[in-house]
Amino acid sequence: MGYDVHQLALGRPLIIGGIEVTSPKGSVGHSDGDALSHAITDAILGAAGLGDIGLFFPSDDATWKGADSKVFLIKAIKMISDKGYILNNVDSTVILQSPKLQKFIPEIKKSLSQTLNLDEVNINIKATTTDKLGVIGEGLGWACMAIVSVEKNT
Ligand code: MG
Repeated sequence: MGYDVHQLALGRPLIIGGIEVTSPKGSVGHSDGDALSHAITDAILGAAGLGDIGLFFPSDDATWKGADSKVFLIKAIKMISDKGYILNNVDSTVILQSPKLQKFIPEIKKSLSQTLNLDEVNINIKATTTDKLGVIGEGLGWACMAIVSVEKNT
């Protein structure tokens, strides 16, 4: 399982699963701030017992400043592959007050499918809000959760 939260601010791009979503506010982060890719990266690393994203891609490392978070996903897949695992499926939830994400989900799914080298039927992306409650509801930030399963490549 993986979980990530980022702040939102005016004038920044909002990248979700590798796709830029049209929004006045975007994600604040050391990398591109793609919380969905970060949550999925954490879930992949965790499923193979490899720690977490901060261990391999620390936010105080200049290497990852402005990084395209697809790199983290690709590296995580390579790392579990080196341990003999393959990724089975991904389920995820994006928690964001606005904009509504439904129309972007097919494109996000396609992007993740290519990045993870995983069939789209094995990728699920859910979108929800916090019904205007709390920091997410006020548009100050957004969060993502992801869960994956892996299996030993025989
Ligand atoms: Mg993050």
